[in-house]
Amino acid sequence: PIRPRTELDAVDSVCPYCGVGCALTYYVDRERGAIAFAEGRDQPGSQGRLCVKGRYGWDYAASPQRLTTPLIRREDSYPKGPLSAEVRGEEEVGRKGRTGRRPGGLVPMEEVLPHFREATWEEALDLVARRLTAIHAEGGPGAIAGFGSAKCSNEEAYLFQKLIRTGFHTNNVDHCTRLCHASSVAALFEGIGSGAVSTTYGDVVNADVAIVAGSNAPSNHPVASSFFKQAQRAGTTIIYVDPRADRMSEHADIYCQLKPGTDVAFYNSVMYEVIRLGLVDADYVATRTSNYDALAATVADYPPERGEQITGVPADTIRRVARIWGEARAGVIFWGMGISQHTTGTDNARCLIAMCAITGNVGKPGSGLHPLRGQNNVQGASDMGLIPMFYPDYQRAAEPAVHDRFERVWGADLDPEPGLTVTEIISSALKGGVRGMYMMGENPFLSDPNINKVRKALAALDFLVVQDIFLTETGEFADVILPATSYLEKEGTYTNTDRRVQLGRKVLDPPGQAREDWRVVQDVARRLGLDWDYTSPREIFDEVVSLMPSYRNLSYDNLGGTGKLYPNDDPEHSDGTVVMFDERFNTSDGLAHLVPAEWLPARELPDDEYPMVLNTGRLLEHWHTGSMTRRSYALDTIAPRAEVYVNPEDAAALGLVDGGMARVASRRGRIELHVKVSHREARGNCFIPFHFREAAANLLTIDEIDPFGKIPEFKFCAVHVEPVEGA
Ligand code: SF4
Repeated sequence: PIRPRTELDAVDSVCPYCGVGCALTYYVDRERGAIAFAEGRDQPGSQGRLCVKGRYGWDYAASPQRLTTPLIRREDSYPKGPLSAEVRGEEEVGRKGRTGRRPGGLVPMEEVLPHFREATWEEALDLVARRLTAIHAEGGPGAIAGFGSAKCSNEEAYLFQKLIRTGFHTNNVDHCTRLCHASSVAALFEGIGSGAVSTTYGDVVNADVAIVAGSNAPSNHPVASSFFKQAQRAGTTIIYVDPRADRMSEHADIYCQLKPGTDVAFYNSVMYEVIRLGLVDADYVATRTSNYDALAATVADYPPERGEQITGVPADTIRRVARIWGEARAGVIFWGMGISQHTTGTDNARCLIAMCAITGNVGKPGSGLHPLRGQNNVQGASDMGLIPMFYPDYQRAAEPAVHDRFERVWGADLDPEPGLTVTEIISSALKGGVRGMYMMGENPFLSDPNINKVRKALAALDFLVVQDIFLTETGEFADVILPATSYLEKEGTYTNTDRRVQLGRKVLDPPGQAREDWRVVQDVARRLGLDWDYTSPREIFDEVVSLMPSYRNLSYDNLGGTGKLYPNDDPEHSDGTVVMFDERFNTSDGLAHLVPAEWLPARELPDDEYPMVLNTGRLLEHWHTGSMTRRSYALDTIAPRAEVYVNPEDAAALGLVDGGMARVASRRGRIELHVKVSHREARGNCFIPFHFREAAANLLTIDEIDPFGKIPEFKFCAVHVEPVEGA
């Protein structure tokens, strides 16, 4: 029977999925120990709205597949290797796996669990500390690495990087920011001295024009996109620039369907025209920027006709975009992984920074730079120093004064050299460099590029500990598995794409012996001899604030029900700073550094053998490797299977039918999956979401990386698509 709402406990929290960080309330039936439903809450960045993930995507926590006890690999299960049918050493993953009997996509626990035995926490933690310590003693600091998670809280991210840095004396610690906005952050640091957004997405209401670049916001940042749509109806001109005619294109005043991998040429052409029309903000350029002449000299080679030749966007459209952008009183750019996930990702972001800076569009309402952050806490995890080159608050590990200060406050010897990134750690493991890894909440087996390479790297490790809420594909390679609490079973802070720090509250009790990540990290730290005695996330947050000028003044007591933006000089009375850099940038001279970029083609271009371009990304209903959303009944029911999206003309030419099966192959592997014939794809391009283990898109992707941000090229590789006969 449906209970009246008055019998339900209301717990205010934050959505655990995307970087928008919508405020919500979970209504909990305490008798059943279960969430009954969720409702949006009023908060400046969400205003009571939720998308389908926030509204329905919470029942994963009650899945019977939750890990509830520590597990240790059985002695007779060595040498370890890929265990399940799909990953048993084959270079290819078929529709139903090698055995042809599993249409679903979750890890086959009945096959994997027999390779492990249950253990006590004491036994498992002792083993973790003993093995990692031994590898460290034999191989030195470079033999150890840690992947943290942007799904964990700020407190957990902070403690994890502190453990790797002080317990193992290495900066080999990173997380999935490397796979989403690392190139944006590299360009922003170089250009304006800060990796965070310069204004909120809600500020779009004050913009004359907003460019949404390489972002399928209605799927990936649904509630933020509702602000864009509202602004458009109120008069803001929306310019959408993306190779896929996704739902954002339906709400744009101008849609520029450029060819994949041609962003630099497009924005250089727009800047060429802005300069030619005399629409540069000369005062702003003179007083707030440096290196304008070099930028102008570079974009002089990109007249709109050349822009059209490279990008496929008509020269007249480029001219129109330039005029609207240049004449706007205030303009803002939002961008997503279509900008960042390229081997030219840093160059792409450099162009966006220059676009804003030469027209005076940073530092006033309705203007600015906003990389839409992906995970719910990827902003916070990066702020916390869960990246190899920075300590908390982006303080450079290689800077002697910073290094010495953190040695003092943490009371430990620290590595003075920056560590390896996610992709470099995988490559190092393959060569026997990194030999022991601690993985907290990451699943690189599905999320990283060229996963046959990842599989070999994971199998080559001497010791792998995986801490998670489910048995993931990566967990199949583990020596020890530690059961963690889900988002719903713990307290902590999370920082959204706007720089809003919000409190996530405990809603449910954890299952079995599952433990909060911060407690597990502390348990390991103590066994390494570290003198840690944290008693709560609140205490950890206070330490964070003491080390991070950006988070100054924030505390659990003043975050309130809707969080606070940082920086914030008076959190008792103020929501925080919306528009940053109104007077100076965070660079050493206070100026925005304009960095010109030349267009370079993608690393792997189509040819006769692999004639199509593959683009990968997310669906509205699913999240990353699907470990949560594929265990959410409503979400998995709406979007139950992997599909390759192809243009109708390509489908006809290739003999593909909607709903039929296709085989997609690249130089690195091949998969079989259903066909979705879609007008959203341009001819010659196809799209596959990366959530589905049984048709893992990242078997196909290329692991070439951007030289600055070290981000892989998830948005471009060459593939061959053909129908599966008889399927
Ligand atoms: Fe959650 Fe993002 Fe959807 Fe908001 S927009 S409900 S934060 S997934």
